[in-house]
Amino acid sequence: MADVSIDTLVVHAGEKADPTTGALTPPIHMSAAFELPEFGPQLFDALMMESHQPPYAYTRWGHPTGRVLEEKMAALEGGAAALALASGMAAVSALLFTFLSSGDHVVASEVCYAGSVELFGEYLPRQGVAVSLVDTGDVDAVQAALRPTTRVVYVETPANPILRIADIAALAEIAHAAGALLAVDSTWAGPCLQRPLALGADYVLHSATKYLNGHGDALGGVIVGPAEGIQRIRKEALVHLGGAISPFNAWLIARGLVTLPLRMARHSEGALTVARFLADHPAVTQVTYPGLESHPHHALACRQMSAFGGMLTFQLRHGLGAAITLAEKIRLFTYATSLGHARSLLFYYPTDLYVDAVSYLSDAQKHRIREWMGEGIVRVSVGLESAQDLIADLDQALRARTVKGMVGPAAYAVLKRLQGGSARA
Ligand SMILES: *Cc1c(COP(=O)(O)O)cnc(C)c1O
Repeated sequence: MADVSIDTLVVHAGEKADPTTGALTPPIHMSAAFELPEFGPQLFDALMMESHQPPYAYTRWGHPTGRVLEEKMAALEGGAAALALASGMAAVSALLFTFLSSGDHVVASEVCYAGSVELFGEYLPRQGVAVSLVDTGDVDAVQAALRPTTRVVYVETPANPILRIADIAALAEIAHAAGALLAVDSTWAGPCLQRPLALGADYVLHSATKYLNGHGDALGGVIVGPAEGIQRIRKEALVHLGGAISPFNAWLIARGLVTLPLRMARHSEGALTVARFLADHPAVTQVTYPGLESHPHHALACRQMSAFGGMLTFQLRHGLGAAITLAEKIRLFTYATSLGHARSLLFYYPTDLYVDAVSYLSDAQKHRIREWMGEGIVRVSVGLESAQDLIADLDQALRARTVKGMVGPAAYAVLKRLQGGSARA
C-alpha cells in the first residue's frame, strides 16, 4: 500500500478481516502465551525470534493486536518495521539501551521531554555512556559535539516543552558522516505533519499516549525504523527490559490512529487561532508557536512540517501569581500534564524549578533555556473543542483576579527552598 495517501493508510494499513470469524475490526487477543509450533524451524523461530515476524510465543515478545498497531505505524512513517511498547519512555529507553554501551557517546537535545533529558543527564552516565547535551536547534553545536565514539544523535522536534525545532535533514547528514544513527522523537508532530525517515532519520519514536491515541485513555510508545534494527530492539530490549504494550492499549491506540489526520488538522487550526489571540492579549508577554512568524525557527518549521500541531506556550506578564489564577479559573481547559488529547490541557513550568534545580545543565545552557522560557511558560495542548470557546475560556481566566494568585509567589519561594526535583510533565 505504498502509493496511497496517509489518509487512506490510517484506515487500511495493518487491518484485514479476522480469518476465523470474519470480524472487520481487529480482535483484542488477551492471551499471555500462544500454543507453540511443532518441533522444527518454526518453533526455533518462535523461541529465538530469528525472522522479522516470528510465530507468536509469549506476549512480551510480540502479539497479534500489537502487530496491527506496528503495521499501521510502519506504513504511516514510511519505515520497514515498527515496534510497539508500553509507553513513550519504554520506546526511548529501548532504543538507547539497544544501541548504546559503556564507552559509547550520545549527543542529545538539552531540552526534551523531562523523562528523556533525565535519562541522558543522570541515568546513562551512570551506565558508562558519555552524553553531550546540546541545543539541537543549532546544527553547528551538534557538529562540534560529535566524537569518534558517537553512536546516536537524539533529537526531539518540536521539543517538549519549549517548541524548539531541529533541522532533521541537516542533522541526518552530519550524524551519518560521523557514523552515528539519528533518532527523532516526533511525538509533538505525529506522522501526518512531519516525515523524519523521509528526511534521513534512521529511527522515529513516539509517545503513542499523545496524538497517536488522541483520546487520553492509554499509554503506549512506538519506534519505526529499518527491519534489522527493529528486530534487534525487540530481541534485546523487549525481551530483557520488558516494556511490552498490553493488547488492549495497542487496540485503543490503533483505533485512535484512524482519525489522526482529521484530528491533527483540527488541532493545528485551533492552536494557530489560539496563538494569534494570545499574542494580542494584555496579560501575555510572549507566545511561542511554530506557526507564528515570531517563532525563531518559523522558516525551518515551514520547510519541515506540513502544519504546526496543537502545542504552544505563552508567558504571563504577572508570572507565577497569574499562572495560579489561570489554573484556578479555567473551565474548559484542564490543568494537567500530558497532551494530544481531545480535551484541551494546560500546565505551568516555572523556569526556576524546571531548569535551575537540575544538576546536569551548565550555566550557559540554563541561560539559553531561560531565553526561551523567561520566568516560566504555560504549556498548552489545544484540543478538539471550538477554538472560539477555548479563547473565551482563556480570556476570562486571564482577566480574573484571585487571592490565591496574589499569595502564590510567596508560597512558591517556600516551595523552592523545600524542593530539589524537577517538573516532570
Ligand atoms: C510524553 C512524552 C514522552 C514520554 O511518553 P510516555 O508515553 O509518557 O512514556 C516522550 N517524548 C515526548 C516528546 C513526550 O511528549
